[in-house]
Amino acid sequence: MGDGRIFVGVGSSLGDAEETFAQAERALAARGVRVVAQAKNLKNAPMGGVALEEFTNSVWEVATTQSPWELLRTLQAVEGDLGRVRTVRWGDRTLDLDLLVYGGLVLNTPELTLPHPRIGEREFVLGPWAEIVDEGYAVVGVGAVHAALRELKEVAQEVPVDRRQVTDRLASDEDSQKTNETTGDQGGADADPIHWG
Ligand code: AMP
Repeated sequence: MGDGRIFVGVGSSLGDAEETFAQAERALAARGVRVVAQAKNLKNAPMGGVALEEFTNSVWEVATTQSPWELLRTLQAVEGDLGRVRTVRWGDRTLDLDLLVYGGLVLNTPELTLPHPRIGEREFVLGPWAEIVDEGYAVVGVGAVHAALRELKEVAQEVPVDRRQVTDRLASDEDSQKTNETTGDQGGADADPIHWG
């Protein structure tokens, strides 16, 4: 699983993302990390409720002889070079470089977690990633990137339907509440506003 390939998640929400990404690619090359494949840049709404600007995301495959820890420091140095200003977690930033996977390596330290946590839940990671790996490419904890992306999209499609059902149900309960107020009926077991079953 994972083979020997190394992938980096790339994001920006401040300034000209295309230009920042081009500069990042050059800065990485200067520090011994070659970008060998790049997904198309994807525009995303800010996540986490803190960042205000739209995010631009991509996933890059890189080649390097650096160890995972050296590579992490290189990514951080390039973030620093390009003037990343990080005031709060999830906030706006000029450049964010995350080490998604380093071959099949599994690590769980505060400095470095591999594969990167939560990648399986993020369409802005799985989407670009699926562009540059084939159907069979799989990652520890996530499984096949293509399959994980399909699953995530299916779940995302189901959510509005569920929400609509609940909203309809709440609206009809509100109506029956009004009726009950007039009739003085306190309601029985069915008065519970939300049923998931
Ligand atoms: P962030 O600001 O979200 O990019 O998080 C950066 C922090 O996460 C740094 O302290 C890193 O040491 C830590 N970190 C842990 N695992 C990873 C990873 N796979 N890629 C990038 N940063 C990581």
